[in-house]
Amino acid sequence: MSDPISRNNPILPGATLGMLGSGQLGRMFAIAARRLGYRVHVFSPDCNTPTGQVADLEIQADYLDLDRVSEFARGVDVVSYEFENVPAGTTEACSRFSPVRPACSVLFTSQNRLREKTFLRDAGLPVTPFVAVRSLAELVTGLERNGVPAVLKTADWGYDGKGQVVIRSLDAASSAWSGLNVPHAILESFIDFDSELSVVGARGSDGEFVSYGPIGNSHSNHILDVSVCPARVSDRVTENAIEITRAVFEKLGVVGVLCVEFFLTKSGELLINETAPRPHNSGHLTIDAHVTCQFEQQVRAICGLPLGSGALRSPSAMANLLGDVWESGQPDWTAALKYPDLKLHLYGKQEARAGRKMGHLTALAENVDVAERTARAARDALRRAGFQTQK
Ligand code: AMP
Repeated sequence: MSDPISRNNPILPGATLGMLGSGQLGRMFAIAARRLGYRVHVFSPDCNTPTGQVADLEIQADYLDLDRVSEFARGVDVVSYEFENVPAGTTEACSRFSPVRPACSVLFTSQNRLREKTFLRDAGLPVTPFVAVRSLAELVTGLERNGVPAVLKTADWGYDGKGQVVIRSLDAASSAWSGLNVPHAILESFIDFDSELSVVGARGSDGEFVSYGPIGNSHSNHILDVSVCPARVSDRVTENAIEITRAVFEKLGVVGVLCVEFFLTKSGELLINETAPRPHNSGHLTIDAHVTCQFEQQVRAICGLPLGSGALRSPSAMANLLGDVWESGQPDWTAALKYPDLKLHLYGKQEARAGRKMGHLTALAENVDVAERTARAARDALRRAGFQTQK
C-alpha cells in the first residue's frame, strides 16, 4: 500500500503502533509510545514478554503465520520492528495493510551481513574489508588474499558475536568452515582497533536528522558491556562519524531510527562494522542523558512527527546487566539504588540466563570517567550483594 504518513499527515497520539518483536527494545519503545498517548500492539511468537507486559495488546503467533501477521497489520496505523531477524516475508505481508518503518527494503539490506556490507561499500562508505565465502575453497582463497587474522561470520542471523570465529592461521580454515556450518558467510579482515564507537540516528519523513554520539562502547565476550557518551574521541572523529551515519540514512532511505557501529582504527580511520535499523543497546543511555531518547525518536519518526532535540543533558555511562548478575539469586537492588545519580532499568524477563540482557544501569555525572566508574561500581555492588529474599 502507498505510504500516507508525512509531516503534513502524521499519525497522532491515540493511534495504534505495531511492533514486531517483543524484547527490551520493543518494551522501551512501548513505554515511550504510551507516554505520548499512543496504543501499542506487539507481535511475536512468545507471551508475557518484555514488550507484551507494557503493550495494550500482545499477539502470540509465528512470524510466518501470515494470516495472523496480516490481521495484526490491519489493526495498527504503522508497523516497526525491534530486531533485524524478522523474516522479510513478515514485513512484506504487513506492508500490504500498514506502512512499515523503516521500510522493508532497509530491513532486507541490513539483515544479511553480505548484502549490508556490499551496499555500504558500493555507496562509497568505509567498511571493514571483506569477501563473500560460499565454500572452503573460497575461504582459503580469501585468507590467502587478505591474510590472517581474519573473522569469519555467518551472513544471516548473526548478533552479539554469535555465528563468528576468528581465524588465526590458514591451517584453521577447515575447522572454522565446518564449525560455522552455513552455506553463506562473510570473511572480514581482523581490525586491530583502537576503540569501538556507535552513532544512533533518527530521520523523519521530511529528511530531518538527529544523532546521538559517537558513543564509546566496550564489549565483553562479544556482548556490549559498557557505553559512554560522549565517547572519548576528537572533534574530527565525532564529525566524521556523524557525517558517515547521516550518509547511511540517506543512501538507505531510512525513516526511523538506525545505529551505525564503527571501529576506530589506530590511525584514526572509521570503518563501519554493522548497522541496525532500530534503537540500539548503546543508545539506552539516551533515556536518562538526552532531551529526547532514541525510543521517543523512533515513535516520532515513524509517525511523521517532528523529531525532538537530541541534545545531551549530562555525560553518562551505561552498564549492561546480564543474567550472570543473578548467579547467586535475585540481586539486592538497593545496592545499586543507593547511588543517587544512577538509574536502574529492568526488562521484566522471567528467566536470567548467562549472557542474557536483563537490564541496564545508567549513571549521570560531570564527566564520562566519573559516570563510568559509578556505573561499574554499582554493578559490582549488585554482584556482591547476592540474595534478596523474595516474599
Ligand atoms: P558483531 O556481531 O559483528 O557486531 O561483532 C561483535 C564484536 O566482535 C564486535 O563488537 C567486535 O568487538 C568484534 N569484531 C567483530 N568483527 C570484527 C573484526 N572484523 N575485527 C575485529 N573485531 C571484530
